[in-house]
Amino acid sequence: MYANPFAHITAGALVPEQIVSYVTAVGESRPVLFGECVAYDLDGQRVLISYAPGSSPDEDMQAAASAMNAATNVAIGAALADGGCASLTVLGPARPGNAPHSAASHEDTYAFLALPPAAPGQNLRNMLRRGSRECVVTEEQWTGEHADLVKTYLDSRPFEAGTRHIFSRIPNYLAASPEAALFAARDASSRLLAFVIGDFAGLSTAFYMFAFRRNDCPPGVGDVLLQTIVDRATQRGHQWLNLGLGVNKGIAAFKDKWGATLRLPCVETSWSPASSGTARAGSAARKAPQTAKGDADPLAVFTRPGFSLRRFLFGEQRPFDCLQIEVTSRCSATCAYCPHTTKQAVWRERHMEDATFAALEPLIRRAKRVHLQGWGEPLLHPRFFEYAGAAGRIGAAVSTTTYGLAVNKANAARLVDSGIDIVAFSLTGVDGPSNAARSGAPFDGVQSGILALGEAKRLAGSEFPHIHLAYLMLAPEAENVARLPDLMHSLDVPVAVVSTLDYIAAPGMEAEAYAPHEEEKIERARVLLHTAAQRAADMGRTIHYSLPGTHGRNDCNEHIQTCMYIDAEGLIAPCIYVNLPTDEHDPCRRAFGSARERNPLDIWNDREYARFRSRLAAGDPDLPCVSCAKRFERVY
Ligand code: SF4
Ligand code: SF4
Repeated sequence: MYANPFAHITAGALVPEQIVSYVTAVGESRPVLFGECVAYDLDGQRVLISYAPGSSPDEDMQAAASAMNAATNVAIGAALADGGCASLTVLGPARPGNAPHSAASHEDTYAFLALPPAAPGQNLRNMLRRGSRECVVTEEQWTGEHADLVKTYLDSRPFEAGTRHIFSRIPNYLAASPEAALFAARDASSRLLAFVIGDFAGLSTAFYMFAFRRNDCPPGVGDVLLQTIVDRATQRGHQWLNLGLGVNKGIAAFKDKWGATLRLPCVETSWSPASSGTARAGSAARKAPQTAKGDADPLAVFTRPGFSLRRFLFGEQRPFDCLQIEVTSRCSATCAYCPHTTKQAVWRERHMEDATFAALEPLIRRAKRVHLQGWGEPLLHPRFFEYAGAAGRIGAAVSTTTYGLAVNKANAARLVDSGIDIVAFSLTGVDGPSNAARSGAPFDGVQSGILALGEAKRLAGSEFPHIHLAYLMLAPEAENVARLPDLMHSLDVPVAVVSTLDYIAAPGMEAEAYAPHEEEKIERARVLLHTAAQRAADMGRTIHYSLPGTHGRNDCNEHIQTCMYIDAEGLIAPCIYVNLPTDEHDPCRRAFGSARERNPLDIWNDREYARFRSRLAAGDPDLPCVSCAKRFERVY
């Protein structure tokens, strides 16, 4: 019998999440037993670990998964039954049988090394020989020196806040876990080169928990440190060393060199009881969202992700930098250079439907940013704020560009409350006359919107949303940009992004733009912009600008290898320029599928879409890109 109610979980640990002292120290969560499984609770967000304590990575995983499912289903029922569960994440070798259909699952695999390991191959022998010439390894207690090395390591790599937080809790973990050991590698002058932490609390499986090294750490030192953990685990009679998930290609290669095999699935399945139908009846606080008419709201699929150890430990994988989403193609303005004006006879006026936005959920969960704006004024969409809230709820940064007229006092307060981090206001000038091209979106209206948003931020004591200017510099009015720093100062706008006309909406408008061959015209604009940017910098403000260069690149400023454009009907295209909402034949139209009909991730992987992207990257662009200004632009 174990006096500690969780001791048998740790003793039978197969994965690090079953080392209870580790998870509670780094996750600051409370362990709870549900059936045979341990769960961690953080303010109602629960992570249930469904690996059977004492099982082996050698077992037939199919059999293990079905045995697991029976026990897990009982544990899930218990975890949901006590009423305190706001979200549930189940981590185990398979998706739980009773997870609701809508629950999202992500899969990875743990790498294991069988102990004692096979004799090292030539490559590993060389590395071990080389590393052992460079360092001496000792077991040490945690000190400020180790903390400094972690800080340097983090400063040189793009880790997420959650991962940084867990690393800051390592001293707490070491203090709480007597079976964890820190091994340090030092050079001849005792300088700390690297250190690793192993955990030997499990009876049959040991764990390679953390590894940090200096950027100039000699090759082979990491191998020598891992050898130390392997030796300790072998001496103690462990049969396996869990080397962690195969999330990172570089780390995977390191594990491969050691003969580790990916043998234990790690399936993370998350859902919110509120949206799954498993919530108790009458729980008003967790009721699924409804539309104004009382129907079930399609946006209910945007469930907040549960507390996730995996995400917490390894950072979230969000491969898409930005999704530009056209929530509407309607607009009350008639800007002279905009196709909404020049192609009015064939324009498709439509708001995005809720079901279309909901269909984008798998994409948005994988995107760092969602920019709500297309060929239209986004704030005219009746559910703009709900869309912004839904995207933010699942972890994407949300921004928008507006013509400003709809930013009255009430909407300004909603923008502050929405979680949107950037609101850009469109202008083509610095006063009424110079902004005349924006017919129907007069300068005074934009100015009022900016001031209203600034006031709403002040009242709420909020830093967000940041206010930017999206300034379109039309060539005949280029001189006005000299006054842009003063305008930014008077409206207290910290950042302006100046662009030039990329899309020629009607014949004859070329004079308003800058073509790559117009070198003198471009140089005059560059000098103007450079001078304005310097003045703005002197005033503590920033002007970013872009201008065409003479040569096209194998990329474009829409960054289509990591970004995409989705129109109000759910059609997915590389950029806003190749899918105008018109009913005319357009030889440059390139849309690769509708999110209403196919999983948007499948559309991203569509062969023709992938070919479009690879042709641009290979310098053999498709027709719309051949003379597109975005391919020639340089950002300053
Ligand atoms: S405000 Fe925007 S969408 Fe509306 S006409 Fe002007 S440029 Fe076009
Ligand atoms: S180069 Fe091609 S993909 Fe890029 S913005 Fe232009 S048309 Fe779009």
